[in-house]
Amino acid sequence: MDASDVCRFNACMHRSPAVVVQVDLGRVRKNVAEVRRKTNADLLAVVKADAYGLGASAVAGAIGDLVDGFCVFDLREAVQADLWGRTGKPVLVLGPPATRDPAEYFRQHARPAVTSVEQANALRAAGPVLCVDTGMQRFTWPASQLKQALESVQWSEAFTHAVQPEQAHLLLNLISQRNLYLHAAASALLDDPSTHLNAVRPGLALYRGAVRVSTPLVEVHDTHGPAGYTGFEVERHGVILAGYSNGVRTGPCLINGHLRRIIEVGMQSAFVEIGPKDRVGDEVTMLGDGLSESAVAAEWRSSAQEVILRLSGSGKSVYI
Ligand SMILES: *Cc1c(COP(=O)(O)O)cnc(C)c1O
Repeated sequence: MDASDVCRFNACMHRSPAVVVQVDLGRVRKNVAEVRRKTNADLLAVVKADAYGLGASAVAGAIGDLVDGFCVFDLREAVQADLWGRTGKPVLVLGPPATRDPAEYFRQHARPAVTSVEQANALRAAGPVLCVDTGMQRFTWPASQLKQALESVQWSEAFTHAVQPEQAHLLLNLISQRNLYLHAAASALLDDPSTHLNAVRPGLALYRGAVRVSTPLVEVHDTHGPAGYTGFEVERHGVILAGYSNGVRTGPCLINGHLRRIIEVGMQSAFVEIGPKDRVGDEVTMLGDGLSESAVAAEWRSSAQEVILRLSGSGKSVYI
């Protein structure tokens, strides 16, 4: 298995040459420091999906000295970003094992999450990690089979996917006597110390506010009657060179300090409602400058994670 096996996460989406994605690695470092301040546990930085589109190699290089380890979904992501080589920090692979060869994990200083005795035995030499079901009901070991799991394998670490505090507490109750290294908390649970256990696993919390996405207006029009495919009616509209092939959706944007809307999205361009003073060349900010991933997510009816992922892949990345 090598890095070329991996579909680069955003490769199926096109980066528009007209869109600039600014990734603020200093902000990612500050976010890591903030999580450190809030928690009294190890920090396993989640850099799956190319660090939510920010670039796993760049992010790992920027925060490697501040974290205790990294999490990816698939071992190949660790290979591709060379997480161990770049940082000397170990890796936890959260998703189902893609190989039964422990040497492949060992080489990356990666340990696989496992969900059966068969996987645990095959990957024994790689330090398999017990992934306990506390409600997620996927990629997990059902609690009803936990006794069997605990009796048949020598574990040193267990975790659960948790969105509610009760799930972290349940993990603790199920495993506590065994002295295992335990973790549950993703970003949503960072404010609840009772869920932090031995380590926290934030993704989103590391990337909030770190991505700014902008593109210029390439046309502006006083709108006459219904326009576009959908026949939208506004006073004035502009056009940007980014559409759904670049990950863009209808939703909020900022132009010259005013909150505006992307009103209709096409394949590689979109219509934007503009104000009386907006001109060709003016910048349309789709994320950043105070327009948060959560605000965009609310309008998309999606998650902040998806907003960061889609928009960070919408154009050419520049690291600042
Ligand atoms: C993705 C993921 C995380 C990080 O989630 P965020 O909500 O982005 O912090 C943590 N743990 C597991 C198991 C995950 O799959």
